[in-house]
Amino acid sequence: MKQHKEKILLHVCCATCSSYVIKVMAREFIPTIYYYNPNIHPFEEYLKRRLDIEGYVRSLGLDFIEGDYEPDRWQFFAEGLKHEPEGGARCEICFRMRLNHVVLYAVQHDFQWFATTLTVSPHKKSGIINRIGKELAEDYDLNFYQSDFKKHDGFKISVKMAKELDFYRQDYCGCIPSYEQSRERKRTREEITRQTQQIVSPTNV
Ligand code: SF4
Repeated sequence: MKQHKEKILLHVCCATCSSYVIKVMAREFIPTIYYYNPNIHPFEEYLKRRLDIEGYVRSLGLDFIEGDYEPDRWQFFAEGLKHEPEGGARCEICFRMRLNHVVLYAVQHDFQWFATTLTVSPHKKSGIINRIGKELAEDYDLNFYQSDFKKHDGFKISVKMAKELDFYRQDYCGCIPSYEQSRERKRTREEITRQTQQIVSPTNV
């Protein structure tokens, strides 16, 4: 563990994914929290997530910075990839777009380190996120904190903290395709439940 704590720009996506990671990072660094998520749709959803994370960060006495909400820019990058499953090519572009923005802010504001909470999610491949982070760090001569925060029960602890802290908990990742795919999965589950109930219902015996 470092004796002298350096500052780090920590990209966050929502309060649920961030509470545990911020605690972990604060052991070694002085985190400045950066919320840049133009992937989140609609704007009301973006605001709900932002309000929770901002409140939490300020309660810890840390700095909170919000990047621009620019969904059109995100759409431009993700064009043609709406049928990709979560974890596929669209996500890689989404990670890169957000981290690229984080890096630019880091350079402009004299941060030597940057990191992201994204690897805490069991739906996100840490290998891809770390590769993108390392590439950007090399391009801009910065240090990227490589992580797999979901390990060692990281995600489980995050969910527990979210319940205790009464955070808003979304049921989709953020973009329109992830919203639609989540609704589709919900409909499928409901249909399976309906059909199962019909089979076991006494009226059908
Ligand atoms: S599913 Fe999540 S990570 Fe993937 S593109 Fe959509 S918002 Fe980005």
